[in-house]
Amino acid sequence: MKDHALEGSAPLPSNDAPPQVRLTPEQRALVMRADLLQGVAPDAVHRWLTDAPVRWIPRGDILIQMGVAHNTLFILLSGELSVWLESPNAAFTADAQRAAAAGARKQIARIGPGETAGEQSLISLVDGQLPIAWAIANEDCYVLAVPSAMFWQSMQAEPKIALNLLRVLSARVRKANAGFSEALAQQQRLVQDAETDALTGLYNRRWMDRYYPRALLCKHSTQRPASILMIDLDHFKRVNDEHGHAVGDQVLFQAARRIEFALRPGDLCARYGGEEFCVLLPAVDLRLATGIAQRICASVARQPFALSSGETLPVSVSIGVACWDQQEPLDALLQAADRALYQAKRQGRNQVIASPRPVLI
Ligand code: GH3
Ligand code: MG
Ligand code: MG
Repeated sequence: MKDHALEGSAPLPSNDAPPQVRLTPEQRALVMRADLLQGVAPDAVHRWLTDAPVRWIPRGDILIQMGVAHNTLFILLSGELSVWLESPNAAFTADAQRAAAAGARKQIARIGPGETAGEQSLISLVDGQLPIAWAIANEDCYVLAVPSAMFWQSMQAEPKIALNLLRVLSARVRKANAGFSEALAQQQRLVQDAETDALTGLYNRRWMDRYYPRALLCKHSTQRPASILMIDLDHFKRVNDEHGHAVGDQVLFQAARRIEFALRPGDLCARYGGEEFCVLLPAVDLRLATGIAQRICASVARQPFALSSGETLPVSVSIGVACWDQQEPLDALLQAADRALYQAKRQGRNQVIASPRPVLI
């Protein structure tokens, strides 16, 4: 054990405890409570356990090292072990303590008296694989160190032990799978957050840049038209200037809802930036897209927005429409819709202009 002792950051081990070589009666009782030995006759256990050495492990020593072969099953008699997915060399450093406090520690399990570590070593007798985790002594420990070969023999004599081993390993697989599911869900949440506009709840520009080209170029779309709406709130700067930024935010949120309500489920609406929104309408030609844009324009202007103060505020939008020529990149399509939008602004706002460029459809 000593040759695997932690370097540098590990605390000094406490004064060497006298090596213990035989199990006390209390320790025997504890061993009998190990998951692996449930339902096994005490006589059978004692027969082979008596040959296994009891070892004293000082705090900080590594019992199992990832990637390094070992051939011992440890039954913990006192103290505590921990299992890690990365080198626990820094386990006792201030950095590790801070990471632990932030929940970022890669310690995956704690093992208490009566529990076991190193079951994988039993399997490695069959599959030849090396350990996939680290086990370290969190405290000074006594362990019963059962050589894998000895345990293997006992399993052949007592099939119940093999069943217990299956149960223990299966519980670990379940726990690992639950961990993977949780990590995956967390990853999905992060991706979702990164692609969602916090104010309006719509997708953001990052999502648009990733998803719109795919939507345009998927085989299904390339055989059908697709159109883009570029929507911009009119004189929105005045809203901020005259009513404050918080009211501006309310208007943006409500505008997003009015736009969404005018769309079909498959239409892809995003906040393009500032007070501009963008909608990709799959399978919609210029004429139909212009009608949808007019519906949005009317639904924004029809009724003033109700503010949380109880006041109401008239709002309008200008919209530029462009139909995809089934070849051009997204940028060119957006530019065409943008040009139409600015024409709508120049012509007095609160209106829809369809891109006049030649459309191949
Ligand atoms: P136009 O009719 O020509 O579009 O004029 P406009 O005032 O709407 O356009 P301009 O580009 O001059 O101003 C847009 C304003 O939108 C300026 C900016 O402060 C405001 N804005 C951008 N993002 C937000 C936001 O998240 N919240 C709020 N409250 N205001 C925002
Ligand atoms: Mg703008
Ligand atoms: Mg504007």
